[in-house]
Amino acid sequence: MSEVLFDRVAFIGIGLIGSSLARAIRRDGLARHVVVSTRRPETLDKARELELGDSYILDPAEAVKGANLVMICTPIGAQESVAQAIGPALMPGAIVSDVGSTKMSVIRDVGPYLPEGCHLVPGHPVAGTEHSGPEAGFAELFQDRWCILTPAPGTDPEAVDLVRRLWEAVGMRLEIMGPEHHDKVLGITSHLPHLIAYTIVGTACALEEDVKKEVIKFSAGGFRDFTRIAASDPVMWRDIFLNNKEAVLEMLQRFTEDLTALQRAIRWGEGDVLYKHFAKTREIRRGVVEMHQAGTFIPTEKDKKDAKPSEG
Ligand code: NAP
Repeated sequence: MSEVLFDRVAFIGIGLIGSSLARAIRRDGLARHVVVSTRRPETLDKARELELGDSYILDPAEAVKGANLVMICTPIGAQESVAQAIGPALMPGAIVSDVGSTKMSVIRDVGPYLPEGCHLVPGHPVAGTEHSGPEAGFAELFQDRWCILTPAPGTDPEAVDLVRRLWEAVGMRLEIMGPEHHDKVLGITSHLPHLIAYTIVGTACALEEDVKKEVIKFSAGGFRDFTRIAASDPVMWRDIFLNNKEAVLEMLQRFTEDLTALQRAIRWGEGDVLYKHFAKTREIRRGVVEMHQAGTFIPTEKDKKDAKPSEG
């Protein structure tokens, strides 16, 4: 058993990320009471069946009453309506955090609805799979991954420290940075790769039937990894692109320029240009492996069957 960090934690949204954290909190006894709330009664029933919490309340305002920590685990596009609903019901001193993949948006969408005396500590556990919903979660999801917190300057240090200790207790490494910087970094490391995967798989989809069959048959040649990324939740990714527009567009612009340079090297048979570029990128992979970010995680039996780590 680890140290109890919170008396009462309320989850708003209990999909892949929320249910994984709830499982880890209950496994390690990090809170005395876990309340689960979500939009649809069917999902709440599923959470009850999986024993993800101690109590289950559909109304988010009811669910957050008396909670020391409220963890918003919905898609980014739902955060504002959730904040609007829970704001008046928050206990003085309550910490509100989230797991959303973009961070400027939380400050814009959640911040204004929090009463005086409550603390906003936005967070992003950089861990995930392409699966969604409460059944998809597992307590080991966060092991050895990074969690980024983006509190505004002046946020109560005790509140930030409690959120930090929570993520550390479930196995994460912590980093604190500004929300704008977060969105820029994740724009290139996560959002752009997803956009590229969605594009390539979309292009393959549009091919003639006979070629499409061959694409699937020979997918182990590289395409397979793109299909896994492009199988990620459409609502979540729609919201990410709409909420990190500037950084994604800037990275996309740079990417397009670099792609044009490679296109040109291929056209003119500039093997040395291609070789130099590929040798440089190989080094990046080495760095990723050295930092243990190449896919080391402890899978559950279910996880072993089909999921591979990805990130949102
Ligand atoms: P998910 O599995 O699809 O779960 C989303 C949860 O939010 C469900 O419980 C859903 O409930 C609930 N929800 C949806 N709309 C709602 C609303 N309007 N009000 C209240 N609840 C609502 O999603 P997830 O993968 O856990 O992602 C959750 C957040 O984590 C997202 O913001 C995402 O950016 C971030 N994130 C995801 C990953 C990843 O790899 N998946 C990684 C890091 C961070 P119902 O079923 O009741 O509709």
